[in-house]
Amino acid sequence: MAKVIDSKIPAGPVPEKWKEYKAHQRLVNPKNKLKLDVIVVGTGLAGASAAASLGEMGFNVINLCIQDSPRRAHSIAAQGGINAAKCYQNDGDSVYRLFYDTVKGGDYRAREANVYRLAEVSNNIIDQCVAQGVPFAREYGGMLANRSFGGAQVSRTFYAKGQTGQQLLLGAYSSLSCQVKAGKVKLYTRYEMEDVVIVDGRARGIIAKNLVTGKLERFSANAVVIATGGYGNTYFLSTNAMGCNCTAAVQCYRKGAYFANPSYVQIHPTCIPVHGDKQSKLTLMSESLRNDGRIWVPKKIEDAQALQQGKKQGWEIPEEDRDYYLERRYPAFGNLVPRDVASRAAKERCDKGFGVNNTGLAVFLDFSESINRLGIDIVMQRYGNLFEMYQEITDVFPGEKANVINGVQYYKPMMIFPAVHYTMGGIWVDYELQTSIPGLFAIGECNFSDHGANRLGASALMQGLADGYFVLPYTIQNYLADQAIWGKIGTDRPEFDEAEKAVNAEIDRLLNIKGKRSVDSIHKELGHIMWEYVGMGRTAEGLKTGLKKMHELEKEFDSNLFVPGTKEGLNIELDKAIHLRDFFTMGQLVAFDALSRNESCGGHFREEYQTEEGEAKRDDENYFYVGCWEYQGKGNEPTLIKEPLEYEAIKVQTRNYKN
Ligand SMILES: Cc1cc2nc3c(=O)[nH]c(=O)nc-3n(C[C@H](O)[C@H](O)[C@H](O)COP(=O)(O)OP(=O)(O)OC[C@H]3O[C@@H](n4cnc5c(N)ncnc54)[C@H](O)[C@@H]3O)c2cc1C
Repeated sequence: MAKVIDSKIPAGPVPEKWKEYKAHQRLVNPKNKLKLDVIVVGTGLAGASAAASLGEMGFNVINLCIQDSPRRAHSIAAQGGINAAKCYQNDGDSVYRLFYDTVKGGDYRAREANVYRLAEVSNNIIDQCVAQGVPFAREYGGMLANRSFGGAQVSRTFYAKGQTGQQLLLGAYSSLSCQVKAGKVKLYTRYEMEDVVIVDGRARGIIAKNLVTGKLERFSANAVVIATGGYGNTYFLSTNAMGCNCTAAVQCYRKGAYFANPSYVQIHPTCIPVHGDKQSKLTLMSESLRNDGRIWVPKKIEDAQALQQGKKQGWEIPEEDRDYYLERRYPAFGNLVPRDVASRAAKERCDKGFGVNNTGLAVFLDFSESINRLGIDIVMQRYGNLFEMYQEITDVFPGEKANVINGVQYYKPMMIFPAVHYTMGGIWVDYELQTSIPGLFAIGECNFSDHGANRLGASALMQGLADGYFVLPYTIQNYLADQAIWGKIGTDRPEFDEAEKAVNAEIDRLLNIKGKRSVDSIHKELGHIMWEYVGMGRTAEGLKTGLKKMHELEKEFDSNLFVPGTKEGLNIELDKAIHLRDFFTMGQLVAFDALSRNESCGGHFREEYQTEEGEAKRDDENYFYVGCWEYQGKGNEPTLIKEPLEYEAIKVQTRNYKN
């Protein structure tokens, strides 16, 4: 009999749940006579907004990040925008519609009530950020501008050119700085959480490494919040920042926090293709480009072959010989189908030999039609910095005139291909964002979040800021209210001694392997295994092979790793080795989950389960649940625990983006 998980969702029809819940919440004394301490790990959009809000509410916050400034968190990479149901375009948008699109976009694998709450607070986020001075793009008349992202037929994405994440983070950072000045938030930059400390079954502190001195330090608090981002870098090559890692989340998992839906990994369709084996990073070309860019490959295989051999260029192929395959297959949504659908369609074309670069692993993203329609100035206003970024990396400027065929002007297109981008899976949390360890909360990309099996574009920032500004600051109080009677826990307790000793022992173990292989060489190999066997198309056979290969490589890591330097002072290789140790645990977890889920849904595509047209084939009868995994020790298969999904407001059906 599977364990039953209490997700603490209040009873009642969905739209009422959050309101009823808000009415019942118990506010801890906002003037903070109680002196309650909260540790927030992470200063991305989720962490910075939570730390600022908790500080504002009167809690004493300890806020840590691995970068030298909160402003350098990975969230600044976010380009395209943030969703909200404001309906400024008068195009029929509503809270319900955003809720519906998100549930459908996630292939009916998200918790319905959570998504409703997310849609409901989405509008507050925009107001909050505008009040902070975030320079969202505006229409000529002064209204905030919107554009469309995948999986929606309305324009609800707010943006700041191609730098939305950076501008939002600057807004959150200014609120955070205000609380730092007020003495409510104490900021620790260049600190990395290595372990969570559990006292009497509750999270009561963390062990963190000062990345500059190498020293381990102890922090205690009444509750711990992790906001440490996703695990996309398990695949080595991804669009995530180099520093993104899953050490904090995996360590919480090892200490008993369930890890939910790890196999739901998002492969983004519009990234600059891999161009050699010396690469350590992939670059995203924002989904916003699909508003005006059209994706195509040649209709004729001989044209594709000529492109692959460098004998022809894209702009030499006339309109009638182009296959705008997304528009052809999905007339209702066209280029704006969700990411999982667009990525699979690109793979299908390339697998059939229609790829457009020398590796055959690329498709075109072309702006000729929009430049001809709107003019280059307007297109540059919308996507200027993305065009420049593309040019800097590839030496091709996508707005450059290249050819005229039958009186039609053609411009140089971008080349794109799918790449690992975002992880929908993460630490399991209940409706209050509390993990299965009391007192430990997870927010932002590091929780299993509200996106089900696939996240729609511009929804990660929405969820991170919803968690940080509007959900956690309220829900955490239900836990803290009962904590008020407990004084501050001393860091001299045996639980802290034990945790620090274990972290130290691990560091010594890694340094003393003294083998021959660098961290990066092993990580790159792990990435190849992940992409090949646990990537876009998975099979039971392939997943088993992947698991076996990961096991063997982990043995190589444990016996032949070389970490130069010592544990004193700055040692980036040592930090990377710690991250890689945890990417191994994560990679295996993704594979176990993918193997157990005998269906295709969203970002999890099992080749055995597809329709005749190559679409994902879900199995709602057997897999309509959140798959939560409980750690059972290194090398052992984790235990699967199911949280059944319950839908009241939305009818579960097959996703359709065709009509
Ligand atoms: C190129 C790119 C473009 C994107 N564009 C968009 C977009 O347009 N719209 C959208 O909605 N989403 C977008 N996303 C996704 C979105 O940016 C992320 O999902 C989101 O920013 C994650 O925020 P976060 O706060 O959860 O984590 P992060 O921003 O990853 O922050 C993690 C924080 O945790 C800290 N940390 C990590 N580990 C530790 C540790 N062990 N100890 C201490 N601190 C730690 C880090 O220092 C950092 O401060 C994009 C993603 C990428 C890669």
